[in-house]
Amino acid sequence: MTGSLATTGSPASPAAPDAPAAPDAPAAPETATAPEAATARGTATAAVPDAPDADRQPPAGGPSLSPSRAADFKTCPLLFRFRTIDRLPEQPSPDQARGTLVHAVLERLFDLPAAERTLEAAADLVAPQWAGLTEQEPALAALFAGPGAAPAGDALSVFLRGARELLEGYFAVEDPRRLEPAERESLVSALVADELLIRGYIDRLDVSPAGELRVVDYKTGGAPREAFEGRALFQLKFYALVLLRTRGVVPRVLRLLYLKDAEVCDYRPDAEELERFERTLLALSGAIERAKRDRDFRPKPSKLCGWCSHQAFCPEFGGTPPPWPERETASGAGDDAAPEVVDRLG
Ligand code: SF4
Repeated sequence: MTGSLATTGSPASPAAPDAPAAPDAPAAPETATAPEAATARGTATAAVPDAPDADRQPPAGGPSLSPSRAADFKTCPLLFRFRTIDRLPEQPSPDQARGTLVHAVLERLFDLPAAERTLEAAADLVAPQWAGLTEQEPALAALFAGPGAAPAGDALSVFLRGARELLEGYFAVEDPRRLEPAERESLVSALVADELLIRGYIDRLDVSPAGELRVVDYKTGGAPREAFEGRALFQLKFYALVLLRTRGVVPRVLRLLYLKDAEVCDYRPDAEELERFERTLLALSGAIERAKRDRDFRPKPSKLCGWCSHQAFCPEFGGTPPPWPERETASGAGDDAAPEVVDRLG
């Protein structure tokens, strides 16, 4: 790892002693604006004038990867198979649902005029955003209604209060009145080495007046951070590589905002590291294609099994995987789909 990592607590708490701020830290692009990207939500690659690779088209039926699915394969090839090839349904956990809700609120918050982006305004967005999400995604609505769900009312109140507490964590580390994000919830993609399409959603992209990029990812999970930090950094490097290949620029900062702990973790990548990361992704994609060809996805048990929804089908837990889906013989079937509404890493 050649980039540098710095973690800071909220302004109310001292910085972690073993993680000093990097001495070369640039001025935070708190008032960044990017006129060309101000309306680019959802289509980051379309608005980039100097994108070296943006016009390249993936080969039909060629491999593609999102950070979630790439991380799945690294974590456990069988988990990758269950999610991407068998497409087994997963009921979102309350933590995942809360994460989806808080991401939606933070995205919507920046639609408000800067002066109105207060904690109270964010808290007021929680209930209406939840109503909108449950309308879009029945699996979220099922958490508090339907067979086996927790009783509505009290449980829902606790859930929504938890979302507001995460927003308090956000406001402890950032003041959104001082920010003008260039992009939010942007789908970004790049074709690397003329063969692999990499794509994913960036929570937020800030651009400083000098053109420096800061990729921001909100982490809302209730799981222990150490279990997921490697996954989170993998995800951010993935986005940094997309930006390098589409804009020819290495992002200055990759920032994880841990809302539960009100902590900021900054990582500063460099070009050589991202080029190595690209080779890692190509090797990973090759391994996935071989596993598909051989129908050989092995379980890789770890502490993350505790968060796996598919133990009932996993040989490590006495289960048997479902029959290989025959649609997988069709070219391109099982390629990584665009991330879904609850497809969050934490
Ligand atoms: S339970 Fe563990 S080993 Fe089995 S599929 Fe899930 S993550 Fe892999």
